[in-house]
Amino acid sequence: MEPGTRFKVYCSQCREKVELPAEEFRLTFGRTPAQAHYSFGCPLCGAAVRKPAGDKIVEALTAAGVRTMRLVPAEG
Ligand SMILES: [Zn+2]
Repeated sequence: MEPGTRFKVYCSQCREKVELPAEEFRLTFGRTPAQAHYSFGCPLCGAAVRKPAGDKIVEALTAAGVRTMRLVPAEG
C-alpha cells in the first residue's frame, strides 16, 4: 500500500473534477468482474457517486489500499 495516494475523478452529479485520497474511496465487487464499482462522496456537491470500475481502476485502487466490499446476494 502506498500511503497518500490520491485519485482524480469526475463527479457525475456536478461534473467537476475532484481529487480525493484513497481513504475516501470504496470498492464494491459483485458476482462478476463486470459488476465491480467504486464509490466516493463528492466534496463539492456532497453526492454519493458510484461508477463502474474496470480492471485497471480496481488494480489501482486496491494497490492504494482502498477498502473493498463484496456483495453476495442472499439466498433463500
Ligand atoms: Zn459533485
